[in-house]
Amino acid sequence: MVQQVTRQDFNELMVPIYAPADFVLVRGEGSRIWDQDDKEYVDFAGGIAVNGLGHAHPVALNALTEQAQKLWHLGNGYTNEPVLRLAKQLVAHTFADKVFFCNSGAEANEAALKLARKVGLSSGKGHKSKIIAFKNAFHGRTLFTVTAGGQPKYSQDFAPLPQGIEHLAFNDVEAARAAIDDETCAVIVEPIQGEGGVISATPEFLQALRERCDETGAVLIFDEVQTGIGRTGALYAYMNTGVTPDILTTAKALGAGFPIGAMLTTNKFAQHFTVGDHGTTYGGNPLATAVAGAVFEFINREEIFAGVKERHQAFVDGLNQLNAEYHLFEEIRGEGLLLGIVLKPEYAGKAKDIVQFASEEGLLALVAGPDVVRFTPSLIIPQQDISEGLTRFGRALARFSPK
Ligand SMILES: *Cc1c(COP(=O)(O)O)cnc(C)c1O
Repeated sequence: MVQQVTRQDFNELMVPIYAPADFVLVRGEGSRIWDQDDKEYVDFAGGIAVNGLGHAHPVALNALTEQAQKLWHLGNGYTNEPVLRLAKQLVAHTFADKVFFCNSGAEANEAALKLARKVGLSSGKGHKSKIIAFKNAFHGRTLFTVTAGGQPKYSQDFAPLPQGIEHLAFNDVEAARAAIDDETCAVIVEPIQGEGGVISATPEFLQALRERCDETGAVLIFDEVQTGIGRTGALYAYMNTGVTPDILTTAKALGAGFPIGAMLTTNKFAQHFTVGDHGTTYGGNPLATAVAGAVFEFINREEIFAGVKERHQAFVDGLNQLNAEYHLFEEIRGEGLLLGIVLKPEYAGKAKDIVQFASEEGLLALVAGPDVVRFTPSLIIPQQDISEGLTRFGRALARFSPK
């Protein structure tokens, strides 16, 4: 017999690092999802920019069930077909020549930072180990990546922290030009800061990072864990910036809900890693890479990217209409289907309250910091679900701010 479980069990059983909503979701289809009481929600959260094809999409489902009948896992003493196919796809459609597979965004960034340190060491210049990162950035929760992240509240309790990481103001061109020097081995940056509030890097800023990295021999790392796999209306966000990184990290939507991450780089940098330098048991697992391969093929099409841009416009138009009624938003920002709804200063700190009202009204949404409501829905969310979700969002706003 299947055991009955409830939301209350969470508090008794789980290490208290999350504060999940007070309902338990049990099944999903496309951009609709249902809880234990069969209440239905429209999903604008998309598993935090993971479920690029919504829930239970046949492309992902078929890839998973077909592979599940052949081969689940081998370990890195043997390679496999799905991992090689996925590597071919990623190399064919990006700047990269080489790929390292892992299971999450943090692990992809961990690999990137370790590779950069190795590149710095092999340069023969002493002390080429400094890492430049940015305030408010998010790169994951391992000790190295959380220290690279720009929110000290996430790292300070775990000191002593990895050394040699310096944080600069995001989008400050002059500060970056001054700080990136011969001792710098890496610069790590999100093309759009996701967790930090949906803030785009300016083209001049990314250009300046590229120039200084070229001048000093530092490795430019783009953390595209949130912005990758079509999220911004391009396969990767760097493709819209005119700046190409040396290392790109990708995870979240790569497996559309099946855990997988990857670090992409060029031959020039990849050759600094040799056998035994790095690894992970599940990296390149056939199940994960079979799903990611099928998802990649489906998403990497002009039709999908055009659809993301259309949906972006539908969201912006709908949100502007709501704002004409409720006057709560300062700005709607972000690209494609990574949308940040910035609250006016008088509602600072209230993004969570709005998300709570939204879930009561049958809409799943996210925050990005205390003042920004974030939507990261499926890249193929039907127009009808966008309209219905925005209607429910309107009801949440009405409750938040009764006229
Ligand atoms: C989510 C996220 C990560 C961390 O990914 P995990 O899979 O949670 O380890 C890293 N960088 C960015 C930009 C992210 O949005």
